[in-house]
Amino acid sequence: MNAEADALAAVKDADRKHVFHSWSAQELIDPLAVAGAEGSYFWDYQGNRFLDFSSALVYTNIGYQHPKVTAAIQEQAAKLCTVAPGFAVDVRSEAARLIAERTPGDLDKIFFTNAGAEAVENAVRMARLHTGRPKVLSAYRSYHGATSTAINLTGDARRFGNDSATAGVVHFWGPFAYRSPFYAANPAEECERALRHLEDTIVFEGPQSIAAIILETVGGAPGVLVHPDGYLAGVRALCDRFGIVFVLDEIMVGFGRTGTWFASEHWDVTPDLICFAKGVTSGYLPLGGVAISAAIAETFARRPYPGGLTYSGHVLACAAAVATIGVMEEEGIVEQSARTGAELLGPGLRALAERHPSVGEVRGLGTFWALELVRSKETREPLVPYNASGAENAPMAEFGAACKKGGLWPLTAGNRIHIAPPCNISPQDVAKGLEILDEALSVADAHTA
Ligand code: PLP
Repeated sequence: MNAEADALAAVKDADRKHVFHSWSAQELIDPLAVAGAEGSYFWDYQGNRFLDFSSALVYTNIGYQHPKVTAAIQEQAAKLCTVAPGFAVDVRSEAARLIAERTPGDLDKIFFTNAGAEAVENAVRMARLHTGRPKVLSAYRSYHGATSTAINLTGDARRFGNDSATAGVVHFWGPFAYRSPFYAANPAEECERALRHLEDTIVFEGPQSIAAIILETVGGAPGVLVHPDGYLAGVRALCDRFGIVFVLDEIMVGFGRTGTWFASEHWDVTPDLICFAKGVTSGYLPLGGVAISAAIAETFARRPYPGGLTYSGHVLACAAAVATIGVMEEEGIVEQSARTGAELLGPGLRALAERHPSVGEVRGLGTFWALELVRSKETREPLVPYNASGAENAPMAEFGAACKKGGLWPLTAGNRIHIAPPCNISPQDVAKGLEILDEALSVADAHTA
């Protein structure tokens, strides 16, 4: 055996014996061993290169191994790796300043966490303490993380099996024009009816019992759900009317993903709290947090905030955030994400939809898109049923395998493929990815009626 093959065997063997993987039946998976990554690509030990249309888990917004960010991490590591969260330290102050300058309105204070779910946990804690109310409302089509509160706020099926901590969580239907839960005929009607449904939910739950409404600004895991114009402003108005804290979860969509720093900019809406993670460091080091409005920060001005984490604002992670934001600014990556969506991905994906009977809808913004795969454009029957697994999921599994065979790493979820390449993907790689998708979609077409 050669050295590469030995290395591969060692990685696979130790992985199988000792690594317990998320969301998986351990014996039914066979993880690809990744040998390296750069820019929009990663590769395995056999030299297969994959164009990453998933940005890992939608977080490598500046691509893999950006030299300025790896250098900044190395420099910080040589200088100071860590100090306790109670101290003031230059890179933490700077990261907080850079993030606060990019959040809307008066969300000027940053509570740092290690990742997304902890941001959601703390946002909910802040909202409950600020209002003195227990309940939190969230959408069925949502994902907010896998810790106890966050997984129960999550609306999708990953919540099942975690049903022991549902206290205080109420789910409602958000707008989704393509599969309207409100039998609406167009996005404006969908928006109006979704807001009415939310208002009814608030009234019947008792507004005096509701601390917060949490929403993904653009639904990520549930299928790149872009809210109709007016919806977020309508939720903001309901929150104001009933004294409810409005939390936007920007964990997946913040930091350039939709072509703006935060997705709320598209609709000019300012929430009371923003949860962020992922793109803030492009995932080079784990970091998340909550951006806090002046009013909520004031609640804890002379009253201790009863929450904290050993690694809150970890120095190395903050250095990565400062460098990542710097690179995004210098290289115009947010603008590039917007342009790539408007000029390349949007038109390219719509052209695929015209050619392929399996593509029911194309939706997205910036470098964040989804193709809704269906058995029939007319009936909109999903290519596989909700929460399908095993044989039922075969059409999606075959489609995913065809993408990989073509050299594209896809992010499939339910009956959809989500298209989330690095925000700075080159036009050539967009074209290449679309070509591979074009070919792979013929596999999905074979399952149409
Ligand atoms: N919220 C949203 C919208 C997410 O997409 C995710 C992760 O995908 C989370 C929260 C949870 O973040 P983490 O996995 O970093 O805890």
